[in-house]
Amino acid sequence: MFKEVCPNVFQFPRPDGGAVYVVRTGDGLVLFDSGFLKHRDLFLEGMRQAGLDPKDIRLGFITHVHCDHAGGMGWWVRQFVFPVVAHQQTAGPVETADPVITAARMPYIGMDEEFVPCPVEHRVHGGETFRVGGREFHIIYAPGHAVGSIHILSENVLVVGDTLFADGGIGWMDVHWGSHPEDYVETLERMRAHRGLLVLPGHGECFVLDDARIDKGKEIVSFYIPSGHGLGLPRAPSHYA
Ligand SMILES: [Zn+2]
Repeated sequence: MFKEVCPNVFQFPRPDGGAVYVVRTGDGLVLFDSGFLKHRDLFLEGMRQAGLDPKDIRLGFITHVHCDHAGGMGWWVRQFVFPVVAHQQTAGPVETADPVITAARMPYIGMDEEFVPCPVEHRVHGGETFRVGGREFHIIYAPGHAVGSIHILSENVLVVGDTLFADGGIGWMDVHWGSHPEDYVETLERMRAHRGLLVLPGHGECFVLDDARIDKGKEIVSFYIPSGHGLGLPRAPSHYA
């Protein structure tokens, strides 16, 4: 099952409500997240239906550290051999398959998934540009949901992982993967520069970015900003300098 959400941009919905994406360029494919390892056969079948050959994958991006996005990427890399791009704060936990930071193992909700360790060839911090088949992919550092979240901007599409969804919802906030509400507000605010682009979120339907969704996301995130002592989340050092 797949959807071509705009020319050469393919969405592959996952049974758990998540989504991964493939962009077809003039010289091979670019992969955005892999989903869980357990969904690899469905994803492969979807690519076959779409007429895309996984052997043509030239580059893979990891939007953020979570198992439902990156848990299978190590398998894809081993199988089809391509370099992976991830934020420097995502690379460590992905390479060691850290079960806490990647949320592969969360006993309280019965989550116990396999995370395949994945080598990260390009450790980015935001501002980098990658080129595949004449198409550019710009890295935007986007902390908030996870400390090492990135967005990838390419022509008319913006891949955002779990930062913002079609209903204005936001990603799961938890200190174990470095969620931070003030970072999140700033990331959402920066997204206003991309109003009108097609957003490819890590869960649910794609949508055109507008102020209403950004405002709703900010409103939800604000719930987590501590008043008084509160949660007292330490804020990671800024990576914008
Ligand atoms: Zn996530």
